Amino acid sequence: MTGPTSRPPRRSALLRATTVVAAVVPLCTAGWFGWRALDHSDPAAATAVATAAPPSAAQSTGQAPATPEAPPSGSTPTGTPTETAAAPTGTPTPTPTGTADLAGRTIVLDPGHNPGNFSHPTEINRQVDVGNGHKECDTTGTETDAGYTEADYTLDVSRRARALLTARGAKVVLVQDGDRPWGPCVDERARAGADAHADVAVSVHGDGAPASGSGFHVIMPAKVVAGKADNSAIVEPSHRLGLLLRDRFHAATGEPYADYIADEGLDTRSDLGGLNLSAVPKVFIECGNMRNSADARRMTDPQWRQQAAQGIADALTAFLTTH
Ligand code: ZN
Repeated sequence: MTGPTSRPPRRSALLRATTVVAAVVPLCTAGWFGWRALDHSDPAAATAVATAAPPSAAQSTGQAPATPEAPPSGSTPTGTPTETAAAPTGTPTPTPTGTADLAGRTIVLDPGHNPGNFSHPTEINRQVDVGNGHKECDTTGTETDAGYTEADYTLDVSRRARALLTARGAKVVLVQDGDRPWGPCVDERARAGADAHADVAVSVHGDGAPASGSGFHVIMPAKVVAGKADNSAIVEPSHRLGLLLRDRFHAATGEPYADYIADEGLDTRSDLGGLNLSAVPKVFIECGNMRNSADARRMTDPQWRQQAAQGIADALTAFLTTH
């Protein structure tokens, strides 16, 4: 997601559906005539709900690999995360390192958007109360020039991170797991942490910034006490989580800090329902700019996505095991 970048009008749901049917294989070019996903200027686009189905449901969808692909040996990015430093070269992805570290801990992962949102404009355009204003229930998210959608990206990376964290002993709840037709709404996503009695939550996104910009950044909550929002209790721990995520994601992927965000890979916002309404420490990560060709190439690569998941899992592990 990104800020209020203006974009051409969203394609109609019908056209979208038609395109999907017509181009199931490479969900690309034909019919896209330069259209750009109404990115999440989605300030609202990221939050979470606890109605997520059990992990097993995800594996029955067949949408993404239930088990992340093993990174090929030698593909380790610069700055290998410390958690995996001791692992044998070529070890399959769900790295067993630190298996018991997270026993008894619960983590909510919030895959931004939903692949089905494109077909449910009425539902996702509904306004929801985020405390200091109203936002769209959810947004479609952005996509690469080749048509790889942010919603597919966030779900894949979240599933990979879940596998890593589960292997370390954590209980992981996905806010949506490709198991519902659209959404959930951002306020529902925000409640997911509390509903799951989670220790922490991370919302996974890819940005839709102007194509000239590249890099990743983490969004931390500003203090918001307005209407039904009061996130004052999570601001400090979320800041700590944000710093850890910035550092660990950078180490795992080698991705530079976003060059269109002033503060070295960190941003603080008060316009995201997912942060305003969260009762547990939570941040968003914009893993890269899907509108930028270099970032898009990386984000489309399953091996890079595994590294991204590794960075997220390492940050959450560090957050929960160091105080
Ligand atoms: Zn997004």
